Amino acid sequence: KFITLEGGEGVGKSTNLRFVTQWLENRGIEFIQTREPGGTPLAEQLRTLLLQKRDERVDPTAELLMVFAARAQHLSQQILPALAAGKWVVCDRFTDATYAYQGGGRGLDRTLIAQLENIVQKDLRPDRVLLLDLDPVIGLERAAATGEADRFESEQLDFFRKVRRAYRARAESDPDRYAVIDASVALPEVQQQLAHVLEIIAGT
Ligand code: C5P
Repeated sequence: KFITLEGGEGVGKSTNLRFVTQWLENRGIEFIQTREPGGTPLAEQLRTLLLQKRDERVDPTAELLMVFAARAQHLSQQILPALAAGKWVVCDRFTDATYAYQGGGRGLDRTLIAQLENIVQKDLRPDRVLLLDLDPVIGLERAAATGEADRFESEQLDFFRKVRRAYRARAESDPDRYAVIDASVALPEVQQQLAHVLEIIAGT
């Protein structure tokens, strides 16, 4: 199974990722945990470049191609071999983040993203996308409270609203593949929702 965890800033992705991997460990399910952009030494270098603050304006198409370059490397080196070995792959962000950030946030054409998706992934898509959904006003407050907000200061609330809208639109277009998790409730309730979805995935 190939499952991905998605969401905007401050939705609790890291904490909930630990919950997911713990759940799999408790079940004795073999899995790898990885992330995007990144997941291999080369792809992690591309991640560092992508997240670096710089004076030069980053062309959105250049950003898009770097994300997919990292993804091609990640797929061939990590994800595909793990799936071929029968392991679950738990990935912190994947192509839905590209639709949300480069598409929704930066306004790139979805059909361009879809073309690159087809080139890089062929017919591989996550079996299930766990989308942690939260109003970005609350997300940014939470990120600020944990000292994580620094690197986002240049991006406006409006950007994160577009990111959320794009994520939700994708989930609505394919409800069988997306599990929208309400991340505004208390953590135990978020994790109850996650456990419920994981039971379903493990049973199919
Ligand atoms: O998952 P994490 O929050 O660590 O991701 C780091 C940041 O990378 C995101 O907050 C986002 O700003 C950026 N990102 C991006 N485009 C992607 C994936 C991530 O801009 N496709």
